[in-house]
Amino acid sequence: MTRQERALEAVRRLRAEYPLAQCTLDYDEAWKLLVSVRLAAQCTDERVNQITPILFDRYPTLEALAEADVDAIGAIVHPCGFWRAKARDISACMKKLRDEFGGRVPADFDTLLTLPGVGRKSANLIMGDVFGQPAIVADTHCIRLSNRLGLAETDDPAKVEAALRPLIPPEESNDFCHRLVEHGRAVCSARTKPRCGSCCLADICPKVGVET
Ligand code: SF4
Repeated sequence: MTRQERALEAVRRLRAEYPLAQCTLDYDEAWKLLVSVRLAAQCTDERVNQITPILFDRYPTLEALAEADVDAIGAIVHPCGFWRAKARDISACMKKLRDEFGGRVPADFDTLLTLPGVGRKSANLIMGDVFGQPAIVADTHCIRLSNRLGLAETDDPAKVEAALRPLIPPEESNDFCHRLVEHGRAVCSARTKPRCGSCCLADICPKVGVET
């Protein structure tokens, strides 16, 4: 089986295993997803989903959050860790959206990268989930599983993204990354030994770096 064939088979099997393929951050507007994904750095999505309702209840619009005092934002997002940097980035990002983009999140990958606190992972997530464009979200689960599955040989997120891009059909790429997250949490964990015996990919996975 070639790498391309293995990738396509993994896409097919994970689609059957996890049909919903949803983002695990709660949001109902694009700017809120930008805030959530910044808070999610070094923090669990579960905790972010506990904090953002408090933040958005206090500051219900992009403009209100742009006006907010950075320390007041920090006091709310404190439980997410790295709160000073996160509060600073969120404030600067909302101000830039308000002042330069008419209060809207731009639907362009390179433009998203110009926003404070927005890296390739966040920009891909926005392009995929908000704008329905092909996107490779190279988060920790995507990187770990891509390596174990022999689809990439690097821990560098940008290189994993580049390795997956020619292997995964563009229209499947965003959902595939969400499914890697689900599969990483349920079966192919970083914290415990991967449960290869109950994995739907076991017969096609080279299990690179996995102790048997
Ligand atoms: S076979 Fe094992 S290493 Fe490969 S994806 Fe499944 S759980 Fe992970």
